Order: sequence, then C-alpha cells, then structure tokens
Amino acid sequence: MSVVIGSESRPLRVAIIGSGPSGFYAAESLLKNSEIISEVDMFEYLPTPYGLVRAGVAPDHQQIKSVSKVYDKIASMDRFRFWGNVQFGNDITREELLDTFDAIIYAIGAQSDRAMGIDGETKIGSHSATEFVAWYNGHPDYKETLFDLSHERAVIVGMGNVALDIARVLALTPEEIAKTDIPHHVQEQLSSSNIKEICLVARRGPLQAAFTNTGTKEIPELEGAVAVVDPEELKLENNTAEILKDSNDKKMIQNLQFLESISENQPDPSKRTIRFLFRRSPQEILGGDHVTGLSFVVNELFTDDEGKIHQTMTEDLETLDCGLVFRSVGYKVKPIDGIQFDAKRGTIANVEGRVIHAETSETQRGEYVVGWAKRGASGVIGTNKPDSIATVDKLLEDLPSWTGEPLVRSQAETVKTLLDSKEIHYVPFEDWKIIEKAEHEEGAVREKPREKFVTVHDMISVIKAEKLG
Ligand code: NAP
Repeated sequence: MSVVIGSESRPLRVAIIGSGPSGFYAAESLLKNSEIISEVDMFEYLPTPYGLVRAGVAPDHQQIKSVSKVYDKIASMDRFRFWGNVQFGNDITREELLDTFDAIIYAIGAQSDRAMGIDGETKIGSHSATEFVAWYNGHPDYKETLFDLSHERAVIVGMGNVALDIARVLALTPEEIAKTDIPHHVQEQLSSSNIKEICLVARRGPLQAAFTNTGTKEIPELEGAVAVVDPEELKLENNTAEILKDSNDKKMIQNLQFLESISENQPDPSKRTIRFLFRRSPQEILGGDHVTGLSFVVNELFTDDEGKIHQTMTEDLETLDCGLVFRSVGYKVKPIDGIQFDAKRGTIANVEGRVIHAETSETQRGEYVVGWAKRGASGVIGTNKPDSIATVDKLLEDLPSWTGEPLVRSQAETVKTLLDSKEIHYVPFEDWKIIEKAEHEEGAVREKPREKFVTVHDMISVIKAEKLG
C-alpha cells in the first residue's frame, strides 16, 4: 500500500550528508516547513559538527565561528538527528541511504584542492591550502601533516580570502596565536616558525584580487607583521583604470584602498613582511626533493569582448627563493560513484540543486545538493542559507510525484539498527556536546576559547569517560 509522503503518520525522510552551514540550513528549511512533516538525519564523517565553521574559518576569526550557535538551535529541533563519526560511502553507502530515505541532500563541500598544473607540485614543502587550513584548525586527518617552517620565505599562490587567512596565520605572533583556538601542537610549531616573509602572488592585477575586507581588515593590526606592496605593482593598465573609473564594485574599491594604504609601508626587520605581488603566474616549483623556490612568468592583462580581464604571458621570468609553497587557487568536490561530476565547476553536476545521474545525464530522483558542492567554492557562510532553501524548494516541488510505503518502525530506529549492524560508533549531538564541554574546560585552563581534540580516539574517550561518570 502506497501512502502520501510528508504527513505526521508518514513523514518525509531526508538524509543530509555533511554538517557544515549548507547542511544545517537545508535541515532548518525542511523542519520549519509548516505544510510538510519531515525527519532529518544528518550524517557527518567526524564526531564534530559544523564543517568549515570548525575546520575552515580562520582561528583568529572567532566571531565568525560563533555562528555555530545558530546550528545548535537547528540541531535541537524535533525530528532532527545527528549521526557523527559516520563516513558516507564507507560506514553507510549511497545505496543504503536510497533504500532507507526518500531523499538525500549532499552537503559535502568541496574538499579537494585544485592543482596549479605546474612541474614540481609534489615536492616536499609544496602544499595545498586545504592541508594547511585543516592542520591549523585541528582536523584529525591532518594532525600528522608536517610543514617545514624553518625557511625564511613562504609563497602563497592565489589572492582569495583563503590565501589571506593562511598569510595571517603564518604572521601571528605567539601571543596572538595563544588567544585563538589553534590546537596546542600547531601553536608550538607556529610559535617557533622562522618565516620572515610571506608572499601572496596573483596572476592578474590588483583590481581582480579575489579577497574581501573580511580577509584584509585585521592585517594592519597584526602585532608582528607589516604588509607591503610596491607602488609599481598597483599601476593600472589603461583598460583596467577605465574599469575602476566607472565601477560601483565595492569589493574592488575596498581592495584597492587597502593596497594603496600599505603601498607606503617599508619592511621592518623586527617584524614579518606580508608582500603582495601581481601579474605573475607560477611556472615551476624548484628544488630537488624539497622546495627551494618558485619561478613565475610575468603577465600582461587584456580585456576580452565581454569586458572580462585576462592575463597573457610575457617572456619575463622571475624566481622567488622559498621553502614552502601553498597553492590557494580554489577547490573542487570529491566525486561520488553513480553521480555526475561537473569538472569545469568542480561540483556535483546539478540543475538548480537537483543531482544529475552519471550515465543518463538526467536528474536523479530523490538526490539533491547544496553549498559548495552545488555552486562551487564561492561566497561566505551566509550565502549558504538562500542556496540551501532554493534546493529544498526544488525537493518540495518534486515531492507530490512521490509515494512511499508506510513506516513499520520509526526512522530513528531504522538508522540506529543499520549503524549498529555494522558496529559503527556513531556520535549523537548530545555526545558532541560532551566533547565541546571538555574542549572549553581545557581552553579555560589555557586561557583560550577552546583546546580542540585532534584525534577521533580522544573524542570518543572523553565521551566514554563522561558516561562512565
Ligand atoms: P577564490 O576566492 O576563488 O580565490 C582563488 C584565487 O586563486 C584567485 O585569486 C584566482 O585568481 C587564483 N587562481 C585560480 N587559479 C589559478 C592558477 N591556475 N594560477 C594562479 N592563480 C590562480 O578562492 P578561495 O580563496 O579558496 O575562497 C573560496 C571561497 O571562500 C571564496 O568565496 C571566499 O571569499 C570564501 N572565504 C571567505 C572567507 C571570509 O569571509 N573570511 C574566508 C575564507 C574563504 P583569478 O581571479 O585570476 O582566477
């Protein structure tokens, strides 16, 4: 007997994969809907929720991290369940979820970094932004990653907010680091760093810098660093100067104001230097096994027929000696079997959030995507709210064409039985709160916002210890 889905007796059952902002906003949109009764089960790889809010937002941006309180409220809603420490594709498969739920929403972010596609990218000392950001934020998978901070210069390729986050973190003094929630082992390594100069390198000009003032505004306040840019770097080509003249682009104008404000600065030998370089494309990472430098080709800019600014290479080459190279040139999603990957955008292939089948290229019944996995790595945390609501609206548009079997037992029991049958040690939201409480307590001892657990083992141990009393 088929029944209508979305009623009290037969709620809409939705699995959300990932517990970052886009996943929580999708859950909220479903659970707040007054016409459709939904149950939401959120599956998260780590025992800890909040995705990039915990593992991506820079640790000197604690104010931004406080958005997690909004997600706690969503997690406290009726019919919401959190299953942490459950790896999608391994502990629970797509097929199992399709059998158990009416719909899946992928909120998996864009976890792979884009490569620069140049020689030497795999040398020791060449890292993705992903690795470094995850390491300084205490992601358990990156606890053992080694960064050689003994060299005097680090180069960051790319000029977005992630590049600026990395530059700021590398520039923090031990005192500034101590006020953040950077884990203790990272704090020790950063505090003894030998880095004197951090270079950020963009392939286009200052007007095309991708960062915003959320990344630059603290730079002048850094106690142990001075930001510099050679005034020559800020000279605008005729075509781009015209763009500026007619522009209302707030980000572009603010970025230029920031760069002009630092153009009179001189390096201070008692401080670190953060140097901005423009119109240079990376050519090759130099060295033997270890990075010793990065060569660049100098670019010129031109405007295409649609008014977009591109770079074209000149014959001029430059080299920067350095021991560390970070590529911060964007992210792409990790592909999922059975679902089409959009290689150009680095996303799960989708039409307005409806996922596309790998072979048929048609939209896949009951599978949806939100956040970076839907639109690519762009926007700020708040961008995810309307984005997730838009996808949930598509799901609810599709719902009237679905019917389902009546439930023989509660969805909570079904999921629990499935995970128990595989002996998965899942972490419900109340157990995450035990982890969080212990992190805050240890943080208070160390006079910092929290001291993060950086192994899953330690997280599970503290839950067990609390429950044993
Ligand atoms: P992004 O803003 O897209 O910046 C990527 C940078 O990489 C651009 O400067 C881009 O230059 C450059 N690039 C791309 N391919 C390149 C190549 N092959 N060679 C050299 N340079 C290359 O990406 P993101 O910094 O990873 O940030 C992702 C999103 O997260 C953004 O929306 C960002 O605003 C957001 N975010 C926000 C915050 C915050 O609000 N505090 C913090 C972190 C991240 P072109 O422009 O020339 O392509």
